[in-house]
Amino acid sequence: MSTNKQENTQQSQQERHDKHQKRQQKVKESVDAKVAAAQTEQGIFQVITGNGKGKSTSGFGTVARCVGHGMNAAVAQFIKGMWECGERNLLEKAGVPFSVMKTGFTWETQNRVTDTKAAQDTWIQAKAWLADDSIDLVLLDELTYMVTYEYIDLDEVITAIENRPKMQSVIITGRAAHRRLTELADTVSEVRNVKHAFEAGIKAQKGFDF
Ligand code: ATP
Ligand code: MG
Repeated sequence: MSTNKQENTQQSQQERHDKHQKRQQKVKESVDAKVAAAQTEQGIFQVITGNGKGKSTSGFGTVARCVGHGMNAAVAQFIKGMWECGERNLLEKAGVPFSVMKTGFTWETQNRVTDTKAAQDTWIQAKAWLADDSIDLVLLDELTYMVTYEYIDLDEVITAIENRPKMQSVIITGRAAHRRLTELADTVSEVRNVKHAFEAGIKAQKGFDF
């Protein structure tokens, strides 16, 4: 390489470096300002909804995060009683209480009376956790369907969440979350389905799907 060319290359590298530094400095200033502005300490209410895969796993990930800090979490599972749940096997050993609805999928049982009773039993336990300030995080897995099917009263859910201990966080998962739940939530994530193995005929896999 000629000396001229080398100088040009070095110069352009220096320019890129300077540009990068300037840009990063701007990002840092903006992030620092946001961090400084976020001063409120309170529990967070999150809704994880949408048709893609990853809602319950995300909720359980946050439970693991909470327990990993030596904090207390509790899990209420609506609908999925008949499936073995890998997270439950692990988290119960770590002292996390579970309340699991004692029916399978609603479209399997097809009995409104027993489903409503099962949903109510689990909801009564969940309500007790939502009033207990020793619980730092309550995961209400698949609760959205209970509201859709009117097995649990939406007003009751909203009242329990609004009146919970100030530092307690709550996560609701499930498709088609009611608008009043997403409006009340501090954080709403929608998992979009781009593709799913099931659509290609692959069975739900133990250790991955449940
Ligand atoms: P996961 O428990 O894997 O995080 P999820 O909570 O987002 O999934 P659910 O609607 O609760 O999804 O569905 C539970 C089961 O259905 C899981 O085994 C999951 O793999 C599967 N599933 C999720 N999304 C889809 C989809 N778009 N098509 C087919 N099956 C799906
Ligand atoms: Mg789920």
